[in-house]
Amino acid sequence: MAKQEDVFKKVISHAKEYGFIFPSSEIYDGLSAIYDYGQNGAELKNNIKQYWWKAMVQLNENIVGIDSAIFMHPTIWKASGHVDAFNDPLIDNKDSKKRFRADVLIEDYCAKIEEKENKEIEKAAKRFGDAFNKAEFEATNPKVLEYRAKRAAILTRMAKSLETENLADVKALIEELEIADPDTGSRNWTEVRQFNLMFGTKLGAASENATELYLRPETAQGIFVNYLNVQKTSRHKLPFGIAQIGKAFRNEIVARQFIFRMREFEQMEMQYFVPPGTELEFYEYWKQTRLKWHLALGLGAENYRFHDHEKLAHYANAAADIEFNFPFGFKELEGIHSRTDFDLKAHEKFSGRKLQYFDPERNESYVPYVVETSVGLDRLFLALFSTCLKDEVLEDGSERTVLSLPPALAPVKAAILPLMKKDGLAEYAETIFNDLKYDFNLFYEEKDAIGKRYRRQDAIGTPICITIDHDSLVDHTVTIRDRDTMKQERVAVADLRKIIDEKVNFRTLLSKI
Ligand code: ATP
Repeated sequence: MAKQEDVFKKVISHAKEYGFIFPSSEIYDGLSAIYDYGQNGAELKNNIKQYWWKAMVQLNENIVGIDSAIFMHPTIWKASGHVDAFNDPLIDNKDSKKRFRADVLIEDYCAKIEEKENKEIEKAAKRFGDAFNKAEFEATNPKVLEYRAKRAAILTRMAKSLETENLADVKALIEELEIADPDTGSRNWTEVRQFNLMFGTKLGAASENATELYLRPETAQGIFVNYLNVQKTSRHKLPFGIAQIGKAFRNEIVARQFIFRMREFEQMEMQYFVPPGTELEFYEYWKQTRLKWHLALGLGAENYRFHDHEKLAHYANAAADIEFNFPFGFKELEGIHSRTDFDLKAHEKFSGRKLQYFDPERNESYVPYVVETSVGLDRLFLALFSTCLKDEVLEDGSERTVLSLPPALAPVKAAILPLMKKDGLAEYAETIFNDLKYDFNLFYEEKDAIGKRYRRQDAIGTPICITIDHDSLVDHTVTIRDRDTMKQERVAVADLRKIIDEKVNFRTLLSKI
């Protein structure tokens, strides 16, 4: 089995075993691509949300946050283009009866070419050693150039065919490239069809006059339709932003990668309203700012890259993804889009209401342009979880599994562990717990050997363990153990709040952005 697959399996089983993520409705055999967050998962998720909210709303005086409803007027999805164009091209394999996204099959094919290209570069780097000039090699090596040209030709042709709705050509491309079902090798494909990803439902009790509704496929439209409400009540001048965290629903054709692609997921989106003509400047600004936000998490700069879009969505004049190196390779984590005035203009047209802003500096009214940043909360969870989960061999030859999450995001900030229950240790530990619980999410445990308890805390990423022993009763000191260094230190009980706070506060994380 490939190593990457092993890593991914370990991530999924660890997430379940330690109360982070469970398959939804498990006792009924689960529901495809739907997951529930357990006691530790919910804490981690809330902390990620806080990190985003603080960075976007609290640190920017011109960004405010809202919480709009999941159900919205159905005409909104007509105006936004989702009813007509929120489709994915699907293709079925007639032999395996499996369904695929046609564009993903082609993109995966190109990713394989890219792997070959990278192997050539790695080989050359080894051969030339210190004298290796990567940029020159990439620009001149015939094999690398050939691979790149091939990839570009395929992707350009696919983009054009999708844009012009030439689905027959998408199928022709799959056939010409001899792409097979990755599991069975069969090349017996159906035609390519468009499939709308929105979930429909009904509002109202009597079926004859019930209104057809959609579960929102993105949170952005809730921001657009409230933009004037917020602008008027907050009295912000352009540029200003509106942020929102909330659920989105997509009937994904293929949803096989754990919480990477779910049918019910959460987005953290921010729409930045700017004067026309300035949008590309702000687009660049947000691309860099969002990357910095990710880098502050400390998962390693080599795990991120930008992917600038060649095929732009119907509403965008520039778009890029921040891709992350997930256990199954580089994939989209966040999208940054310059959405022009498409959405607001469309809502003006469909609602008949003016959505213009009067610009006192330009002394004119106009519909603002919008730059969007949109990150999937669950994908960020997966990025953190899979990168921070490590198996370590210790100096004495024993092993431990540690989840080295950024301390501010850890589900439990400190574990309070009396060495034993008797002799008044439990009572003393409880007083410490009761004092610190107002400031931090704590965990209390008095059972099992201390080493075992440390391991369990390592596995959920608790930054600090506090051990109470007999000396504690006499001199009011405790032993604190650091998750990452495993170093132990004797400290005064009176200093605990300060010590924990210094380790886990958001300020440390936020000031890195
Ligand atoms: P993809 O190409 O992977 O389907 P997308 O380009 O359709 O993603 P956007 O519409 O730009 O995604 O949504 C913004 C963000 O929402 C994405 O960057 C991703 O992090 C997240 N996201 C989108 N679809 C899903 C999903 N099905 N499950 C989990 N997160 C998702």
